[in-house]
Amino acid sequence: MNTNHGNRPSNETTDYTRRKFISTISLATGAAAFLGTPVNLLASAKSPETWTVGKVMDLFIAGVPGAPFAKTVDTLKTGDRDIEITGIVTTMFANLAVINQAIALKANFIIAHEPTFYNHLDETDWLKNDDVYEYKAALLKKHNIAVWRNHDYIHSLKEDGVMKGVVKQLGWDKSSLPGNDHLFNRPATTLKQLINEVKQRLGIATVRYIGSPAQSCSRVLLMPGAAGGKAQIGAIGRTKPDVILCGEISEWETAEYVRDAHIKGDKLSLVLLGHIASEEPGSEFMKGWIKENVPGVPVTHVPAGSSLSFM
Ligand SMILES: [Zn+2]
Repeated sequence: MNTNHGNRPSNETTDYTRRKFISTISLATGAAAFLGTPVNLLASAKSPETWTVGKVMDLFIAGVPGAPFAKTVDTLKTGDRDIEITGIVTTMFANLAVINQAIALKANFIIAHEPTFYNHLDETDWLKNDDVYEYKAALLKKHNIAVWRNHDYIHSLKEDGVMKGVVKQLGWDKSSLPGNDHLFNRPATTLKQLINEVKQRLGIATVRYIGSPAQSCSRVLLMPGAAGGKAQIGAIGRTKPDVILCGEISEWETAEYVRDAHIKGDKLSLVLLGHIASEEPGSEFMKGWIKENVPGVPVTHVPAGSSLSFM
């Protein structure tokens, strides 16, 4: 205790310096102890798990009823099962923009929903000597990037992972009708209002449609992706929706059917969301699955974006 007030500035300075010195020592000791702790913990803990491409594929497939499938397009398109994963990118298409983004993120495993080499089976014999194909394949090889297509498996989960992602992004979780995951009972709106809502929720700039903007819509059939004319037309026949929202159609199939139905007098509209936009939330679902099941591996959802512009 300092009982000598006022006349010992030098001592005060000494005291202050000493206190400062002591607290600096404590800080230094504390810092050393703090820095030391994680090292000690690491030394005693199990070393972090090494994730390979094959291990992640097997883990996902193990959760799919009836899998593995003898016939599937869900194969490795580049790279191999033994690659140790540095990071994962999920996306609709492993296009060059997505691949460049993966390289920037130091991610060497791309999980894509759709083909990489421009055909359903990713056959490449017909592309030998094609310079776009060669460029893409060489880039993937140079960076030792594995591309796995996860299409059949994610759609075959007990609850279709793509539909789950899309419905979540739409905020329609509670409105599907019993017995049909694709059929929704929405509060009645005009077709125009419905289109605006879906565009906003899914981040779509423009859609094509058949119907009257003022038509009332509440029974909505949602078919993301490209299910094919027979599947789309068959589903319309069975469920009698006010409107069908599709990813992609053939103009000579579903569009002509809906146009005929509309002229015949049926209350039926069609909205084309675009294949990529309609399924991209499935890659967000996939990102969530990686986060939950593949701890310690950085994962990024890189949207493939629309390939087509509108003038
Ligand atoms: Zn799909």
